[in-house]
Amino acid sequence: MAEFPTTARVVIIGGGVVGVSSLFHLAKMGWTDCVLLEKNELTAGSTWHAAGNCPSFSTSWAVMNMQRYSLALYKGLAREVDYPMNYHVTGSIRLAHGKERMMEFERACSMGRYQGLNLEMMDLGAIKQKYPFIETHDLAGGLYDPDDGDIDPAQLTQALAKGARDMGARIERFCPATGVTRDNGEWIVHTAKGDIRCEKVVNAAGYYAQRVGEWFKPYGGRTVPMATMSHQYFLTDEIPELKEWTIAQGHKVPLLRDVDSSYYLRQDKYGLNLGPYERNCKGHWMTPDDPMPDDFSFQLYPDDLERLEWYIEDAMARVPILGTAGVGRVINGPIPYAPDGLPLLGPMPGVPDAFEACVFTFGITQGGGAGKVLAEWVVEGQTEWDMWATDPRRYTDFADQDYADQKAIEVYGHEYAMHFPHHAWPAGRNKKLSPVHDRIIAAGGGDGGV
Ligand SMILES: Cc1cc2nc3c(=O)[nH]c(=O)nc-3n(C[C@H](O)[C@H](O)[C@H](O)COP(=O)(O)OP(=O)(O)OC[C@H]3O[C@@H](n4cnc5c(N)ncnc54)[C@H](O)[C@@H]3O)c2cc1C
Repeated sequence: MAEFPTTARVVIIGGGVVGVSSLFHLAKMGWTDCVLLEKNELTAGSTWHAAGNCPSFSTSWAVMNMQRYSLALYKGLAREVDYPMNYHVTGSIRLAHGKERMMEFERACSMGRYQGLNLEMMDLGAIKQKYPFIETHDLAGGLYDPDDGDIDPAQLTQALAKGARDMGARIERFCPATGVTRDNGEWIVHTAKGDIRCEKVVNAAGYYAQRVGEWFKPYGGRTVPMATMSHQYFLTDEIPELKEWTIAQGHKVPLLRDVDSSYYLRQDKYGLNLGPYERNCKGHWMTPDDPMPDDFSFQLYPDDLERLEWYIEDAMARVPILGTAGVGRVINGPIPYAPDGLPLLGPMPGVPDAFEACVFTFGITQGGGAGKVLAEWVVEGQTEWDMWATDPRRYTDFADQDYADQKAIEVYGHEYAMHFPHHAWPAGRNKKLSPVHDRIIAAGGGDGGV
């Protein structure tokens, strides 16, 4: 057994898919003298229970880039690192209930074309052909993402870990980081097993990122703007009709996203997996009487299917075979949200040689690309793609906890909503005011906040 490392170029705190992908990409860029600390077993945070859906679709240029890169990486990863894993590229259909949604899809298709993706617009006939179990009478059309699919998030993380280890990087499991100290222009990361002196440090602690972020406050850091929501999906029992069709066709039905109703519906073996982003959503650990526990490794919240009732009924009307199956397993787990629903990925605001790669809401599909971006920030001080959309420095002091909580609830409840140019969502208004705010109000103008 190798001795506990006392020095490293980089220490990454957190062994979910994002932290491990960061380690893998640092090693790929030649920085193999890096250590990842995981307080429990790898994947113990949000990663182990994720549904594993991997879309390339996004309306953000930066996010689409990350996802596109991830999917290309995942396709070859098992072979690259010699670690077999379950990755099904099934394609996906996004449904449009109206003209405006079709316009959003057209825009994403064009953006995708520019990035080399093959997103395609679909008419109702094409939808029915690919997904014979669907009711299309009230739809306008859809979008097909041929690269979408699902991956086993734990296997993905382990594959990245194997790749990183094979290149010489270190992973210390069951080794919580407990604090940091800045000394002589270097960081000392304190852990349950001893101190590690390093050049750079990365907060990849998932929904614990705010806790870890507190350690950096004496060195110029701020409260990490985030909140934790509960996200549920459930798996149904086997559906004989779906089984028969799958065997006859030799493949699964594509993943379906009814974005106007706000849920995804994916084939899982011969059953279905339904995961809504419900308007009547629930935040956790947001009040003093509901503090985040010190350790929530491999734990879930109690099932709460009542909250999903409207979505379940809507999905049963859309895909009637769903109503023929019983509910099997329910997963209700913690999912972190930054105020705009995008991750914090890049330099830690105000703190030298420290980085954030945390608060990922879609970390499975973004993990591969996120690792590349983080490694570029660390090694080269810049990224190949324009990553301002996910840069932690987009939030300044206005993003207090009240703002983070209100926005997390708003964004989760509108996860699939259309984002019209210049439309400002109402939650958390007036946290950031223009210098002429009072004069605008006095002159009878709008409230002018962000
Ligand atoms: C029900 C559900 C379904 C989901 N489905 C999807 C999906 O289909 N597709 C998708 O892309 N995303 C999905 N997600 C989101 C996805 O799970 C997360 O975005 C992703 O797992 C985040 O990975 P991470 O590495 O950032 O964080 P985590 O997986 O939470 O990892 C952070 C790690 O840091 C460790 N840690 C914390 N503090 C310390 C410390 N002090 N010292 C050492 N280690 C520490 C934790 O133990 C943890 O293992 C889903 C989430 C939920 C809840």
